[in-house]
Amino acid sequence: MDFSLTEEQKLIQRAARDFAQNELLPGVIERDEKQLFPKEEVRKMGELGFLGMMVNPKYGGSGLDTLSYVLVMEELSKVDASSSVIVSVNNSLVCWGLETFGTESQKEKYLKKLATGEIIGTFCLSEPEAGSDATSQKTTATDKGDHYLLNGTKNWITNGSSADVHLVIAQTDKDKKYRGINALIVEKGSEGFEIGPKENKLGIRGSDTHSLIFNDVKVPKENRIGKDGFGFKFAMKTLAGGRIGIASQALGIATGAYELALKYAQERKAFGTEISNHQAIAFKLADMHTQIQAARHLVYKSAWDKDMGNNYDLSGAMAKLYASQVAMETTIEAVQIHGGNGFVKDYHVERLMRDAKITQIYEGTSEIQKIVISRSILN
Ligand SMILES: Cc1cc2nc3c(=O)[nH]c(=O)nc-3n(C[C@H](O)[C@H](O)[C@H](O)COP(=O)(O)OP(=O)(O)OC[C@H]3O[C@@H](n4cnc5c(N)ncnc54)[C@H](O)[C@@H]3O)c2cc1C
Repeated sequence: MDFSLTEEQKLIQRAARDFAQNELLPGVIERDEKQLFPKEEVRKMGELGFLGMMVNPKYGGSGLDTLSYVLVMEELSKVDASSSVIVSVNNSLVCWGLETFGTESQKEKYLKKLATGEIIGTFCLSEPEAGSDATSQKTTATDKGDHYLLNGTKNWITNGSSADVHLVIAQTDKDKKYRGINALIVEKGSEGFEIGPKENKLGIRGSDTHSLIFNDVKVPKENRIGKDGFGFKFAMKTLAGGRIGIASQALGIATGAYELALKYAQERKAFGTEISNHQAIAFKLADMHTQIQAARHLVYKSAWDKDMGNNYDLSGAMAKLYASQVAMETTIEAVQIHGGNGFVKDYHVERLMRDAKITQIYEGTSEIQKIVISRSILN
């Protein structure tokens, strides 16, 4: 068993850390306040190869392992979880889904641009009445011979107004239930495709979350991913890897808050000494450090499972469940350690606390992770 990182992984980690400090940190408070999408920062992340990290270089990707991707997610999320979710969706859901299940022509046409960051994508599964219960798809993709006619609304779509390519899950044959669901590639600007207003969110406010509305949108048959009826399996398989990305986002948020709290506790004085000398504060730091390290082991193990070709459904779900819980608890304590300063924006920890919450909700809530985990251990 080897817990050390390779030289290449350390270099990538360093590049992401430098980028987060130099490029993400300066505008992060303003982007959060004004709900500004980090357009320029995303362009630069594309140039660094962060948007197609695991994609084969022949499709424009960086050809790296999942652990390298996790390290980048962790570093970016320490500073700006709004930017890291864009990286996560593009890598884990869109690029991975297309590279693993797409046709050669889909990869040529879409994956190459997505992997370099020339464009970004979305993953559209959730609907007003289909969140955790993803089988209840109301969006329909009616088979019209050489094309599908897409109708319905997708909710909460990350990158909603900034993306050019959308992977949309829709029901073709209702009688076949989840076996009658398809995944289609839909281009921005298709006739009948509308983008709803931006959601005004608690956290990750820099990422743009929208409803997407489809009214008789014509989607060519060659834009279906996999065989007829493969859509639900596509969504579940893709989300299994997505969980590793969100788990690493949660790990990064927790680590970012912990590092700020550690520094603050060694500087701030109360009752004639640094507050880290009060055992109540020192013990909080001890708990944070221990829990973060435990979360890190779970997250890295799930990435390792994926790289080794092992099944990562269970390890990914455990990593997401635990890391998101640690992110929530750590950020709350980081605010507490900062006292009144924790309650204002300049100190960053209140934003990290707000950002942490989403990691317990998207790509499968904590309750859904427990269903995945319990089914896995009981079967
Ligand atoms: C900021 C943001 C970005 C998002 N980005 C995307 C995106 O890019 N693409 C996309 O497709 N979706 C996206 N989502 C949607 C997200 O994945 C869903 O919100 C999530 O899956 C939960 O679904 P829901 O909101 O419908 O909640 P519900 O499914 O209605 O759940 C409500 C509550 O009931 C619990 N619950 C439900 N079923 C069970 C059960 N069987 N047992 C126990 N408890 C249960 C849930 O855990 C939750 O606590 C995003 C959401 C947000 C807020």
